[in-house]
Amino acid sequence: MSQAPILSCKEVTVAFDGFKAVQGMNLLLLPGELRFLIGPNGAGKTTMLDVICGKVKPVSGSVSFHRRPGALDITKLQEHKIAESGIGRKFQTPSIFAGLTVMENLEIAMSQNRSVWATLRATLKPSERERIDEELALIGLGDQRHLRAGLLSHGQKQWLEIGMMLLQEPEILLLDEPVAGMTDKETDKTGELLQEIVRKRTVVVVEHDMEFVRNFASKVTVMHEGKLLKEGTMDEIQSDDRVAEVYLGR
Ligand code: ADP
Repeated sequence: MSQAPILSCKEVTVAFDGFKAVQGMNLLLLPGELRFLIGPNGAGKTTMLDVICGKVKPVSGSVSFHRRPGALDITKLQEHKIAESGIGRKFQTPSIFAGLTVMENLEIAMSQNRSVWATLRATLKPSERERIDEELALIGLGDQRHLRAGLLSHGQKQWLEIGMMLLQEPEILLLDEPVAGMTDKETDKTGELLQEIVRKRTVVVVEHDMEFVRNFASKVTVMHEGKLLKEGTMDEIQSDDRVAEVYLGR
């Protein structure tokens, strides 16, 4: 029996002033999967992430989130409700508080469900502190915990934001070009971080860096002109003539 999906996008179409940025797109994600979404510029990848997190609403089609308590049709749900239901979205530019320390950023993320400014140190429970410490270790910023976030390297800022998102316990994490602008070392570390994250969660990554995608034995979804072009392993993708034509420009 095949495994049930955690997310299913069915026949999703998105139009901007009549222009179809996404057309009849299907995407099924299995729990614990790390899925890469690739394709040339303008293929509709970011728009698909926008649909899943509720930032953009499709003109037709549906998105179902098969989360633990039961399936939820999120097609028309507001963006913040989708986030609360367990889908986290990270944009390319990190939204961290540059003037606060790494630790304070994580504390704010931890207490996102409460009144934000009334949440610093004293009000966190020991179990919440433990979660923050776990996340600090995972993102490799233990030594920087008291450093102002604005002083972190580009890669470290991205990891901090990922750590902040993880504290909200999303079941699905959506990442838009997480390694863009990173050094080779930072890119490798991000790869390791993703491998750790998918031990507990499902992750979708929009990525341009093919070298990076090749490091994973993950399924890759190729989009072109708003449609699904091909789905498979990186080897299958690379040996597909249509992909070579439209994506690699051969
Ligand atoms: P990708 O992420 O694959 O580069 P996008 O999803 O960003 O592609 O964009 C797909 C198409 O939709 C592009 O032609 C883009 O110009 C267009 N598009 C995306 N967002 C908007 C918007 N808010 N308004 C109008 N057109 C948009």
